[in-house]
Amino acid sequence: MVKQSWENNLTESEILLGLPDFQFSGWERRGDRIRLSARYSGPRACAHCGSSAVRSRGRYRRLVRHENWGLRHCDLEIESWKLACRACGRQSRQRLPGILPWQRASQSFQEMIYRHHLDGINRSRLGRREGIGAATVERYFRRGLERQFREWHPPKCPVVLGIDEHFFTRRRGYATTFCDLRNRKVYDVALGRSEAALEPWLKRLEGKDEVKLVCIVSAGDKSLENAE
Ligand SMILES: [Zn+2]
Repeated sequence: MVKQSWENNLTESEILLGLPDFQFSGWERRGDRIRLSARYSGPRACAHCGSSAVRSRGRYRRLVRHENWGLRHCDLEIESWKLACRACGRQSRQRLPGILPWQRASQSFQEMIYRHHLDGINRSRLGRREGIGAATVERYFRRGLERQFREWHPPKCPVVLGIDEHFFTRRRGYATTFCDLRNRKVYDVALGRSEAALEPWLKRLEGKDEVKLVCIVSAGDKSLENAE
C-alpha cells in the first residue's frame, strides 16, 4: 500500500512526478535512463494575457530533464496544448507548472542541482555525474541562490501595484497576482482571492504604506479601476 497520511491529498501523478496538473501516462527504460510520460490536465489559459477563453490548436510534445529516480537519470515527456486566444487573438503554448518556458530541465531538476552543489559537490564532478555542462550547473545554482535570497529578503511592495486574479488549479482554486506596474514585473502570487484569504499576505506586506496607486483588473472587462 502506498497510501500514507501525507499522501492522502495527492494524486498518483503528483506522487510519481512531484508536479500538479499532470496525468501520468507511462514510463520506459532507455539504456540507463528512465523516461516518464505525462499529459497536462490542468486549466488552459493564454500565455500572453492569461485569459481562459482559449481554443485548442492541437497538441505538442516537450522533453525536459527531470529529477533523478534513485541514481538513474530521468527525462520527462509532456504532452500539452497549443492554444489560440479569443481575448487577445494571439497563439501560445500552455504554460506548465514546474517547467518554465524555454528551459531544458524542470524546476525540480534545477533545484536538485542547486542542493547538490550547495552540499559541496563541485561543478565539474556534478556536471559529469548528471550529464550536463559545468556552466549549466553554475546557472542552476545561481537561480537557486536568487530564489533563496528572495525568500529571505522579499522586495518592498511596489508603489504602483496591480492586482489580478486568475484560476490556479482545480484543487487550490484561485490565485491573486500582484504586479509592479511601474517596472512591469510580477511582484508576488498569493493563493486565494477573497479578502479573508489574502489578509495574512497583506499583513506581511512590507512598505504597503508607500503604495500610491492600486489597479485592479477585473476578469470580465479588463477595465482599470483606480482604487487610490
Ligand atoms: Zn490572450
